[in-house]
Amino acid sequence: MRIDLHAHSNASDGTDTPAELVAAAVAAGLDVVALTDHDTVSGHVEAAEAVHALPSGSRLTLVPGAELSCQVGGISMHLLAYLFDPAEPAFAAERELVRTDRFRRGRAIVERCRELGAEISWEQVQRIAGDGSVGRPHIASALVEAGVVETVSDAFTAEWLANGGRADVRKHETDPAAAVRRVRAAGGVPVFAHPGAVKRGHTVSDQVIADLAAAGLAGLEVDHVDHDEQARTHLTGLAAELGLFTTGSSDYHGSRKTVRLGEHTTDPAAYEQLLAQATGAEPITR
Ligand code: AMP
Ligand code: FE
Ligand code: FE
Ligand code: ZN
Repeated sequence: MRIDLHAHSNASDGTDTPAELVAAAVAAGLDVVALTDHDTVSGHVEAAEAVHALPSGSRLTLVPGAELSCQVGGISMHLLAYLFDPAEPAFAAERELVRTDRFRRGRAIVERCRELGAEISWEQVQRIAGDGSVGRPHIASALVEAGVVETVSDAFTAEWLANGGRADVRKHETDPAAAVRRVRAAGGVPVFAHPGAVKRGHTVSDQVIADLAAAGLAGLEVDHVDHDEQARTHLTGLAAELGLFTTGSSDYHGSRKTVRLGEHTTDPAAYEQLLAQATGAEPITR
């Protein structure tokens, strides 16, 4: 079983449409792929239709999810949520709040970039983002188009868009303990995304992770491209201590990042634990 529990479509900052992502998952030989766009479920319907349209004999299962933007003590972090009821009102309202604030903040970042001499525009960013939940990667693509930086990842430096960088502006981000409870209340399963991704900025302490476990966190994403060997070892031990399962995922973003779908995968036993805890939605098969 090849299980990848973290992937983005152009419903947020990935470059594949949800249907293309499903096709890419089949091509990558995956048995399970989770669609986890930032703060939105808007890709779910198209992805589900693509799965239903697969040829008979296809064994791909789609796990509908999302990745919530959270913040604790000034440190940004991401919470993956799987198989929640997308119609549950409190959680839906929170996603809407973050998505709406992304527009205000996106405009402010573009303004900052222009003050700093980058000739990009909000119209350009909107064209790049389309209907997707707008974020810094879209602005990074605009900076690449304008010739300011060479790659999307080159835009994530202190000079431009990195956390605390010259052109970084914060968005509304949920308290993660509240988010964990909200995901559970919607029947979903919350997993802390890339908790040891130090290259993205500050990471939270083990105490914060323990507090989230007490609030109902189910798992930690351990095998992730942004984790070094030391982070993986540490997080594996911490998860065992706290009774959390661990996952591995690509965090695929199409051509906006270099990581390949299925580059990291989740153990079937951890996936079974995830399924056993979910009551808000069903995985989607042909
Ligand atoms: P936002 O959601 O607008 O705050 O942007 C965060 C997104 O930017 C993450 O989900 C990643 O896709 C991307 N990102 C964050 N840090 C980096 C980095 N160092 N290199 C490349 N992409 C990054
Ligand atoms: Fe992203
Ligand atoms: Fe993330
Ligand atoms: Zn992600």
